[in-house]
Amino acid sequence: MTLTGHMLIGGQAIAGSREAIRAINPATDAVLEPAYAGGSSEHVEQACTLAWQAFDRYRETSLNARAEFLETIANEIEALGDALIDRAVAETGLPRARIQGERGRTCGQLRTFARTVRAGEWLDVRVDQSQPQRQPLPRSDLRQRQIALGPVAVFGASNFPLAFSVAGGDTASALAAGCPVIVKAHSAHPGTSELVGQALARAVKKCGLPEGVFSLLFGSGNEVGIALVSDWRIKAAGFTGSRSGGLALSQAAQARPEPIPVYAEMSSINPVLLFPAALAARGEALAPGFVASLTQGAGQFCTNPGLVIAHQGPALDSFIATAAEGVQRSPAQTMLTPGIFRAYASAVAALAEHPQAQHVASGLAAEGPNQCQTQLFMTQAQDFLADARLQGEIFGAASLFVQCANDDEIRQVCEHLEGQLTATLHLDDADLDQARALLPTLERKAGRLLVNGWPTGVEVCDAMLHGGPFPATSDSRSTSVGTAAILRFLRPVCYQDFPDSLLPPPLKQANPLQLRRLLDGQREA
Ligand code: NAP
Repeated sequence: MTLTGHMLIGGQAIAGSREAIRAINPATDAVLEPAYAGGSSEHVEQACTLAWQAFDRYRETSLNARAEFLETIANEIEALGDALIDRAVAETGLPRARIQGERGRTCGQLRTFARTVRAGEWLDVRVDQSQPQRQPLPRSDLRQRQIALGPVAVFGASNFPLAFSVAGGDTASALAAGCPVIVKAHSAHPGTSELVGQALARAVKKCGLPEGVFSLLFGSGNEVGIALVSDWRIKAAGFTGSRSGGLALSQAAQARPEPIPVYAEMSSINPVLLFPAALAARGEALAPGFVASLTQGAGQFCTNPGLVIAHQGPALDSFIATAAEGVQRSPAQTMLTPGIFRAYASAVAALAEHPQAQHVASGLAAEGPNQCQTQLFMTQAQDFLADARLQGEIFGAASLFVQCANDDEIRQVCEHLEGQLTATLHLDDADLDQARALLPTLERKAGRLLVNGWPTGVEVCDAMLHGGPFPATSDSRSTSVGTAAILRFLRPVCYQDFPDSLLPPPLKQANPLQLRRLLDGQREA
């Protein structure tokens, strides 16, 4: 498998014309070849032109043809074999087993969307048949289905080089919806992106689809990204990354003559609430699970537990002491990029200097470059409430305990939180009333509420919700993980009094796709 350093625009390998980047192996600081010259606004123009030309044909491909395309992408990614794993490990510093697992998740995700496409429920077909005799006025024949929104810009995430990058969840759900995709590769893993991009381009060709269905652009700095979300042919964007990046792209999208949705997943500290009975009964037993969740992947998960809220007292003290012991034994782990490591180190240093943040424990010291040393801090509820510097996300394996004097302080801390991807409750039966009282607040704050578990580990399934109020995401009505992610890239169209021969297949009277329609107010069996 040869890496060329070229972009893929409608299946053609094209050299960029802007400043080149090279990946860095964060485990060694070694620079990796080849160079990836960045794309320009002309390259964005080319990719958007091709995507627009492909759109009307691609969005009306049969459900089976589109599902086969998604399955072919998965097969082509698997066929990359160890070359993909080797490159992704070198570019991210993530352990081999993690990358292998992530490849499995990526291909599983593509196949799950293939099943979703075939089932056709997402078309949400609604038919209200005409009632010519109705009094005082006859009713027209009205039929509604969902159609694809248009070409979608996808920004690869640094922390999921496969599952949320070139052929990751955003791409899979947009392609499933019938949208051509233009990916802006993350500058941290260009070689991984090129390999997956080549696999995707091969799938386009094998399935006989228009070449503009997929393009892959490189570009460090903001030119390519801003040009992409500003192009009139792009109708939505998917993003996972920093709050500043997500906001910049959302603002560019809103400033267009025709504003478009940007589904940005940005910042979340994922509060964990330890209720009194659970804490008293099994506080020490809970601590290892917390430390494992905190340190998984060097804490570089969107759902990393960055905040623990509980009543002060001996039960919390023994939880903290056991967690501190676990943290002190936790090895330092390589972070994704030197930049992400520097951001972590400086955020931890700022917290260490904060007069109201007490340092609790550090993990084992770094033995190589760019390694995240786990850190625990503690503060009091009133101090937390008073200072935004204690409330922000630290991307990495650092967490803050907030000690509360009573239920009211716990409620105040929860009310004060920004929007979150998750909120976790550890509780026993005796805690249920207290948990019930907090639920309305937590439902307003978070996309996923979980009991007696840990927030890392996001299942790809129909019921998953990986989203939440700002700044967890820019649009709390959506999920970026799970089959409901397809809904972000669809819009409804209603057809009134159409002759059957002019209706699209999902809406024809004979129901040739055998969809479970909402027919005259009744869901079909
Ligand atoms: P990032 O800096 O937001 O970059 C993500 C993508 O957006 C990259 O392709 C980047 O381009 C592009 N981009 C960033 N700012 C932009 C702007 N103003 N205009 C146009 N494009 C822009 O995220 P990151 O590199 O993954 O990590 C940086 C920080 O983000 C981390 O330290 C962490 O705090 C946060 N993060 C959070 C999560 C989460 O799930 N909550 C996940 C990952 C990262 P380039 O390729 O040129 O950089």
